[in-house]
Amino acid sequence: MDKTADKQFDVVVIGAGFSGLMCAALLGKHGFRVGVLEQQKHVGGNLQSFERGGKVFNTGLHYVGALEKGQVLHKLFKYLGVIDRVDFVSLDRACFDRIGMGKEWYCSVSGFEGFQAELERRFPSEREAVVNYVREIRAVWDSNPFLNLREVSGVTDQAPSAFTDRGLMEVLDGLTQNEELKAVWLSNNGLYAGDPRRTPFYVHALISCVFIQSAWQIRGGSIKLANALVQIIEEQQGTVVTNCKVAHIKMEDGRARYAQTSEGQRFFAEDFIAAIHPSVALDFFESGVFRAPFVRRLKSLPNTIGSFVVYASLKPGEFRHLNSNVFYSRTRDVWGAVYQKEDWPKSLMMYTTEDPDCPGFAESATIISFMHYEEVAQWETPGSAYNTNSEYKDFKQKKGEGLLDLAAMAFSDLPAAIDDWFASSPLTYRYFTGIPEGSMYGIAKDYKNGIGSYMPSVTRVPNFFLSGQSIGIHGVMGVAMNALLACANKVDVNLLLSEIRKEE
Ligand SMILES: Cc1cc2nc3c(=O)[nH]c(=O)nc-3n(C[C@H](O)[C@H](O)[C@H](O)COP(=O)(O)OP(=O)(O)OC[C@H]3O[C@@H](n4cnc5c(N)ncnc54)[C@H](O)[C@@H]3O)c2cc1C
Repeated sequence: MDKTADKQFDVVVIGAGFSGLMCAALLGKHGFRVGVLEQQKHVGGNLQSFERGGKVFNTGLHYVGALEKGQVLHKLFKYLGVIDRVDFVSLDRACFDRIGMGKEWYCSVSGFEGFQAELERRFPSEREAVVNYVREIRAVWDSNPFLNLREVSGVTDQAPSAFTDRGLMEVLDGLTQNEELKAVWLSNNGLYAGDPRRTPFYVHALISCVFIQSAWQIRGGSIKLANALVQIIEEQQGTVVTNCKVAHIKMEDGRARYAQTSEGQRFFAEDFIAAIHPSVALDFFESGVFRAPFVRRLKSLPNTIGSFVVYASLKPGEFRHLNSNVFYSRTRDVWGAVYQKEDWPKSLMMYTTEDPDCPGFAESATIISFMHYEEVAQWETPGSAYNTNSEYKDFKQKKGEGLLDLAAMAFSDLPAAIDDWFASSPLTYRYFTGIPEGSMYGIAKDYKNGIGSYMPSVTRVPNFFLSGQSIGIHGVMGVAMNALLACANKVDVNLLLSEIRKEE
């Protein structure tokens, strides 16, 4: 593409993460000519994978849910033509999540019936609490018209419902006093960076429901999903431009007129969707376009914590492929995001990738824990992914060893199977996705500030919309729904929902 000439599209989407690519694919399917602008050399955002020593590692997304035939993500991906282009592999249905606390292990079973039955088996005296828990989380899922592809009376139907002001702990404490059972329910909080002081129950409920329905890995890495979407966008005559960082949005007569990149190229469009963190998006505008109190409030909203990740390359035939997502904590205190430096890491998420040359065994293990940006902020180097500062290197080495020690508590045969390892920190995420503080999931939802911590898609500028993981819920399912919502400003939302509903 000519890097100097102005370009004209129906819609310009800023950011080629899952959100931006979904928006573009949905709009392209409805005949709009879409241009997607991505600051990085590679598309995908948190869907980026990378190769090292012939092995593929995911940077973010590692499993997706609700992808069984008839389930909502399957319908949506079929509608867009993604299903046949990506190899989704089911995790172990008998134990899609392996939950470890100290020496105790539990399984989450796929399907609500199996999930409930397994909990009843492990906690026979808590049958009523288990039944009520499953009923409560399903009620939140069922109440959402988008997730259920139901007709809506307007795009605002996705906005917070009566559920948003219920705290996660408030609901669970009301169900049982059994701390072990509550810890099992809360063990997946790595998926939403849970904080007992603010996480709303609906965040836990929706994310748990997604994966209980069915859980899948992507063979070949999460980048396959991003690449499939790019292919679809291009077949629809859309364009995805990389190395294209948007720096400014020019206004004319109260509407966004064009997006200008840091190199000065201009992209004109009827409408703009910023599929990036909203506080970054607002910086595109001159002061006065958005009201100062709104900008101040938005910028003061806390983001979810960042992550520290160890990527371990394994010796062939030494460590069995898990085919499950693992959540492990030293004790029943599963709140890994709420930590003191001395007791880090309290918990981890881990998954393995199967070795194609040695079926049944893993070729790599990825181990994720939470980390505050403040721990690494001193080594921030603007515009560079690779920080060669020796103190930073020592820090990563020490933290990586600490995380591997915790992983060894979960799997004693892991250390001997490791050939090599390296690590990333919140600095890495900040560079590769542009998200403030290298946050894992964007703006943190707070049940005490239900509406305040919820960002709508529409903005004060009538042709400028927001999408991405800070709008509504994060994760593949949440972001897919937010993309639908952003597109509902261009396409009849009930037409969209009914077309997707018809898919098998
Ligand atoms: C470690 C980790 C593990 C995760 N695991 C899972 C999981 O197993 N399952 C799950 O469902 N979810 C998971 N998630 C969450 C999920 O990956 C994200 O919610 C989702 O991918 C976010 O997509 P997005 O498009 O909103 O944002 P991003 O992925 O952040 O994409 C934003 C894009 O915009 C680009 N951009 C930013 N600023 C500009 C600019 N000025 N101009 C142009 N482009 C710009 C960025 O470079 C980036 O490509 C995980 C996240 C992390 C961090």
